[in-house]
Amino acid sequence: MSGFFPEYDGAPERKPLPLVAKCGACGLHKTCQSPFMPVYGKGKRKILVVGEAPGAVEDKRNKPFQGESGELTQTVFEELGADLFRDCWVTNALICRPPHNFIKKEAMIEYCRPNVFKVIKELKPEVIILFGKRAVHSVIGHAWKEEVGAMTRWAGWRIPCQNPRAWICPTYHPSYVLRSEKQPVVALWFKRHLKQALRRN
Ligand code: URA
Repeated sequence: MSGFFPEYDGAPERKPLPLVAKCGACGLHKTCQSPFMPVYGKGKRKILVVGEAPGAVEDKRNKPFQGESGELTQTVFEELGADLFRDCWVTNALICRPPHNFIKKEAMIEYCRPNVFKVIKELKPEVIILFGKRAVHSVIGHAWKEEVGAMTRWAGWRIPCQNPRAWICPTYHPSYVLRSEKQPVVALWFKRHLKQALRRN
């Protein structure tokens, strides 16, 4: 093991679930407009962004990060000299929209994890930016010894990882940044974390 996390082939360690076979077990594909939303973006800088789940606007357009959270993210990327959909591939911990954006069971993240790992295996990103706890649960949760816990544990680190072989960069979810307008420091941290994730060395 040369990274912080052990070798991993996509199967959760604590509650083993079969690969892609579980896709559909959450039932979300039956209630959303754009089931099994594909990854979007050109990934010119080999960065994968993982959010939580598509919202109403995303579900309508069949593209991730199109609503307010997407706009905020794109603005911050531009301020940092990058372009979200040119430089990154963008997906979510859940690839179907949950009704009312409410994730009923954490197990849904586990069911959908193989989809996220399939994308990682195919695209081989060099950097993976994780927005919020559900994205951390999806990509790191299987290898961590306990519940991933609060985002404050993870946000801002640039973690070398063996499998997926990438720098893992967790930060706050942009919707949390939008909700924290009375605490402007959250937006500053968010931008700082993204700057760190986007650095080229
Ligand atoms: N849009 C997405 O596609 N994912 C999120 O997590 C938030 C907004």
